[in-house]
Amino acid sequence: MKKITTLLSLFLVLINCGELVPNPDENPNNITRKNPNPKNNSKKVNDFAIVIHGGAGTILKKNITNEKEAEYKAKLEEAIRVGYAILKEGGSSLDAVEKTINVLENSPLFNAGKGAVFTNAETNELDASIMDGETLNAGASAGTKTVKNPINLARAIMENSPHVMMVGNGAETFAKEQNLEIVSPEYFKTENRLKTLKRVIKREQENTTDKTSAFYNTDIKDSKFGTVGCVALDKNGNLAAGTSTGGMTNKRYGRVGDVPIIGAGNYANNTTCAVSGTGWGEFFIRASVAHDISALMEYKGLTLKAAADEVIQKKVPKLGGNGGIIAVDKNGNMEMNFNTAGMYRASMNDKGELIIAIYKD
Ligand code: ASP
Repeated sequence: MKKITTLLSLFLVLINCGELVPNPDENPNNITRKNPNPKNNSKKVNDFAIVIHGGAGTILKKNITNEKEAEYKAKLEEAIRVGYAILKEGGSSLDAVEKTINVLENSPLFNAGKGAVFTNAETNELDASIMDGETLNAGASAGTKTVKNPINLARAIMENSPHVMMVGNGAETFAKEQNLEIVSPEYFKTENRLKTLKRVIKREQENTTDKTSAFYNTDIKDSKFGTVGCVALDKNGNLAAGTSTGGMTNKRYGRVGDVPIIGAGNYANNTTCAVSGTGWGEFFIRASVAHDISALMEYKGLTLKAAADEVIQKKVPKLGGNGGIIAVDKNGNMEMNFNTAGMYRASMNDKGELIIAIYKD
């Protein structure tokens, strides 16, 4: 009798703890495990996965030659394969993210590193950030003019300093101390980007009377962006996100966008997902885009897709902004979500299946 009472009270304690719940439809003991977050109970779909973007915007088939399109796709593929190989070998998501972004930063095709856009003063000022989903550690740099690969600087800040963000000259001094590659500001000056700046300034002079919206309203909504980003899940279940950019053409006054703001253009958290954004940075900051997607999963139990839709298809456009995100969740679900005409993007799952796309459909 005493034994039965003990067993019964143990059973009741477990029910109260929410661990075991009677379920008449289930096993012979009428006992089943209770999921603490029933809406967020998806199974692992990939042991590892990687997604990249090369910017979102008004990217239309009619404006791109077949050769250019092939060039973009080839560079996206080259980049994602670097990260994929690292993950496949059991490497970390942080390494995969950093090395993949390096390939995109070293190409003039994208608005990051070599292909950074120009400020109004005809300089190139670069921003980047990286986040480790396991520790929630993060590093970010803003407004640098001589660091060849800003994503490497972001990682050095995260790993080798007590800080999260460094800007301008100070960030460059730290980069030198870390023996990162330093280049002359001339390295970032490309003909194409200079032409775009001239075009934007001309349009601005012709059209803009509203000084509060002076440097964006004319061309920004109408041009492609080109920031680069990468998110990855590694075999150890660790997520990482990285984003790197030259910002927006014609930016002034030391403007810094969403990219180095943790939770805006970049975020990773092993309990939910890793997100990297591209788009009109001011709106991504105001909508806390990357963290919001993670928070919707964590607190509301939304799936990655539902969370991304909520923020990218509803919240950002409602404020008047545009852009997109790439993301991967802890189960290896991948997402490429944008509200613009296109987004340069690619993904690879653990089976090595590659998707590369530019336009909406
Ligand atoms: N989000 C970037 C910024 O506002 C621009 C981009 O995505 O291309 O700086």
